[in-house]
Amino acid sequence: MRPKPPPNYLAGYPIALAEQVQQLIAQDRLVNILLQKYPLAHAVRTDRALYDYVLELKGEYLRNAGQLSKVAFDSKLHVIRHALGTHTSISRVQGTKLKTKREIRIATVFKEMPLEFLRMIVVHELAHLKEREHDKAFYQLCLHMEPEYHQLEFDLRTYLSHLEATGQPLWSVATLDAATPLEK
Ligand SMILES: [Zn+2]
Repeated sequence: MRPKPPPNYLAGYPIALAEQVQQLIAQDRLVNILLQKYPLAHAVRTDRALYDYVLELKGEYLRNAGQLSKVAFDSKLHVIRHALGTHTSISRVQGTKLKTKREIRIATVFKEMPLEFLRMIVVHELAHLKEREHDKAFYQLCLHMEPEYHQLEFDLRTYLSHLEATGQPLWSVATLDAATPLEK
């Protein structure tokens, strides 16, 4: 039987590599690789916590990139293709000043992931505050904020491929709670 064609998430990578990932998924081996590398889910579970997390990173690297008016998880964002997160920037005149309102929305699927993956997507959206296109300057800025950016994006995409193929989240809170019941 021929393996399924590689899913969209790995479309940007060499076909041999994407097929290797598909095979690991089919053989049920990717789960252990991912869980060994990223054993823990993060605790950024609310829009408020996400706002604080994003502001902390922004304060560290992009202090002068303008203010963020809103940061939120968005369940309507589909993770397929490039829409892992979105950033909007609306400029309008307020009195005598030109005010730019910026928002960052992160797909809800990132609520149940390791901190490394959340950090990668937040770094991506923060970089868009300065660089609009996915060009060299953009990725340089991503790497400045997160030196492992490319590896994390690849690992994230393998996880999304797993999720698509199996429908089984690896870092779901329900699963983790079931695995380690709290003492009453
Ligand atoms: Zn982007």
